[in-house]
Amino acid sequence: MIEIKDLHKSYKTGSNSLHVLKGINFNVAEGELVSIMGSSGSGKSTLLNILGMLDEADSGTYKLDGVPIKNLNEKIAARYRNKFLGFIFQSFNLINYKTALDNVALPLYYQGMKRKERIEKAMAYLDKVGLTPWAQHLPNELSGGQKQRVAIARALASDPKVLLADEPTGALDTKTSYEVMDLIQKINEEGRTILIVTHEHDIAEMTKRIVNLKDGLIIDDKKIDQVKALQHV
Ligand code: ADP
Ligand code: MG
Repeated sequence: MIEIKDLHKSYKTGSNSLHVLKGINFNVAEGELVSIMGSSGSGKSTLLNILGMLDEADSGTYKLDGVPIKNLNEKIAARYRNKFLGFIFQSFNLINYKTALDNVALPLYYQGMKRKERIEKAMAYLDKVGLTPWAQHLPNELSGGQKQRVAIARALASDPKVLLADEPTGALDTKTSYEVMDLIQKINEEGRTILIVTHEHDIAEMTKRIVNLKDGLIIDDKKIDQVKALQHV
């Protein structure tokens, strides 16, 4: 699903250059649930943003579902992003003046789906994350965990091949974090490929593979035998 070879990325600020990714190689097969770990500043978000086509590498190759991602014009890049990728962020990134339902339905509006159909679809995804009773509520009437579940429903609404989550539990307490991870595991069990950036070990242990980044390189990449699991309560 994801193939990257010798990926490099530097940030230039004035006359300084910061070499953040120093030759990353890794592949993710369809259906994997992978966490990317590393201390703050190790390049996790930079890597995820490149995988999410929100940023481009300086060199190296990236193939997503067999398609080389390079020098795409903004229109084609946006089309691939919509088709292939769903995003989940630490800060939820919901639209505050729209209800949970309308937040989930928004990506479907951009796909040109008719109102009746997108409301039906959005309701089905809200149901999947256990939020049917909250459909007409605004984000500020929801708890952090509920907001993240709305964001997950929104990410799923466009039926992406890959879900990318940057510190999805970073703003949540432990119990709520585990509930969100339980939902992510459930979505993965249905076959969806998911990558999660985290710096928390207990969160990484709820994935099936942990990739460790340090100083711009992968220093460890291991499959987890005993995945820590709740019971999708
Ligand atoms: P992580 O997500 O692992 O904390 P990041 O990928 O966000 O790390 O950042 C890696 C390094 O690159 C950090 O030192 C950060 O300050 C720097 N950095 C990130 N984004 C930019 C940017 N847009 N411009 C300049 N430097 C950046
Ligand atoms: Mg980060």
